[in-house]
Amino acid sequence: MNNIHWQEGVIMSKALSLRSVIVGLNLLCVLILSCGGIFGFYQMTTSHLLEHTLEVNSAYSKKLAKTTEYTFSTMQQNMETLAPEIAKRFYKTDELQQMIDLSLKSNNYYNSAFVADANGQVIVTSPQIGLRGVVLSSIGAKQALKERRFLISEPYMGATGRFIILVSQPLWDQNGTYLGFIGGTIYLEYDNIIKNLLGTHFSKDGSYVFVVDDKGRLIFHPDQQRVGEVVKENTVVQQLLLGKEGTLETTNSRGIKMLTGYSYVPISKWGIVAQTPLADTMEPLYRTLFFLIAYSFPVLILVIVLTIVISNKITQPLKVLADFSDKVIRSDNQNMLKLPDQVSTWYYEAKQLKKASEMMLWVLQERAKQSLTDSLTGLMNRRGADKLIFKWITHAKPFTLAIIDIDEFKSVNDTYGHQKGDEVLQFVTNVLKENVREGDVCCRYGGEEFLVLLPNTSGEEAFALIETIRLRFSIMPNPTGRSITISSGISEYPNTASTAEELFSLADAALYQAKEGGRNRTVLSK
Ligand code: GH3
Ligand code: MG
Ligand code: MG
Repeated sequence: MNNIHWQEGVIMSKALSLRSVIVGLNLLCVLILSCGGIFGFYQMTTSHLLEHTLEVNSAYSKKLAKTTEYTFSTMQQNMETLAPEIAKRFYKTDELQQMIDLSLKSNNYYNSAFVADANGQVIVTSPQIGLRGVVLSSIGAKQALKERRFLISEPYMGATGRFIILVSQPLWDQNGTYLGFIGGTIYLEYDNIIKNLLGTHFSKDGSYVFVVDDKGRLIFHPDQQRVGEVVKENTVVQQLLLGKEGTLETTNSRGIKMLTGYSYVPISKWGIVAQTPLADTMEPLYRTLFFLIAYSFPVLILVIVLTIVISNKITQPLKVLADFSDKVIRSDNQNMLKLPDQVSTWYYEAKQLKKASEMMLWVLQERAKQSLTDSLTGLMNRRGADKLIFKWITHAKPFTLAIIDIDEFKSVNDTYGHQKGDEVLQFVTNVLKENVREGDVCCRYGGEEFLVLLPNTSGEEAFALIETIRLRFSIMPNPTGRSITISSGISEYPNTASTAEELFSLADAALYQAKEGGRNRTVLSK
């Protein structure tokens, strides 16, 4: 029985405490909520940022494409207006020179301008760069001579060794004879109109713009070194070569992820690409997340502290009651236990549990009392006596045991009835209680057999006391009216007996001897 109690105690102590469960659950909730919130915020903001950046880049590339288209249209109109005037002065070199100089200054479209005849021989240049008289054989010049219409050439290496684009307009005289062409050059590696148009991107967040021609060659790039490079393998450029516009998430030639918007310029068959590194787009989000986490940290600590404090308050009464239950289970003597005062009952359940515990303890104590008490006489019963003897022997407490048995009790029952018999038993009880000393313990051991346990009393002293009781008893009036006697057998611990069994056996033998000797006597076992 004890073993089972002990095992249950172990199981209880191994179980999770309510406080850990509450704190754990709360932390889990806080963690799930925080992570969920941060994750949701991250997801939402990321998709918003990506969408927004792609949209902005797309709109920007479109705007640049439109501006470029518009600029080239204006260049075309200019050239178309200028061409008849140039044609009129085609053979007046000085006037031609003046006109070209003037028109180059009046707009900032070209890095240089020139007029060439129908053979491609340069008549004038502005600024004067020593090309007069030279017959041009560049791709741009050949194309202009051949096609005889307004043209924007592909980039090529010009006669001056510069990487250029040639914008040309044919010259016709009044009779419709082809005279040659006016050429405006854009030096791609220098400050030029394209650079002025596209060079400064709308923000300083790492975004930039580049332009490719219809062969996938870079016409403009913030990294001047790369102008002229063919970047056909670029996914966006492939789309542009198909004349498409739109947005894309790509990886550039350096392996950097980009959010790209791209648009097409029909007049020059160019593609304009505006792009922002993904990392730059995400940077503000990461910064926000960092601050979010940093600022929520003290709040998190506060929540943890509050959780611990509140869970302590909630679990305090339960803990005290649970510990007390454990003590009750382990205890051999529940009569000694008392419910701890510090059970705080600030909420309904704790209050009810405390009440229930008090009641249970009372029931247990009552039951324990009853289980050790004889109901007829109110004396300690056999169980109680055995327990007490076991305890005294365990503590090596010297005592003497007297077994007292009513003589011929059966005949009392037979003659006066059972009821009278009970009264006699109560009468014997009173006589014993009145005559024993303080500290002596009287028990009803069974039927009409009583024990008197006399602590720290020698066999002789006990004998004298029991003899006194026996003599008084035999002359006292009892409920039957006739004389009733008792017999007693006495044994001593630890002098004559060293165990409970031996003690009883010796006392029993002494009692038997008393009965055999004619009853109404006391025998001390030696
Ligand atoms: P002896 O002198 O040898 O002890 O004879 P006895 O008659 O006293 O002994 P026995 O053991 O023959 O009888 C005991 C009787 O006690 C038998 C039983 O009816 C009676 N008895 C036992 N318990 C009670 C009780 O609670 N109430 C009553 N009225 N009688 C009881
Ligand atoms: Mg008997
Ligand atoms: Mg008897």
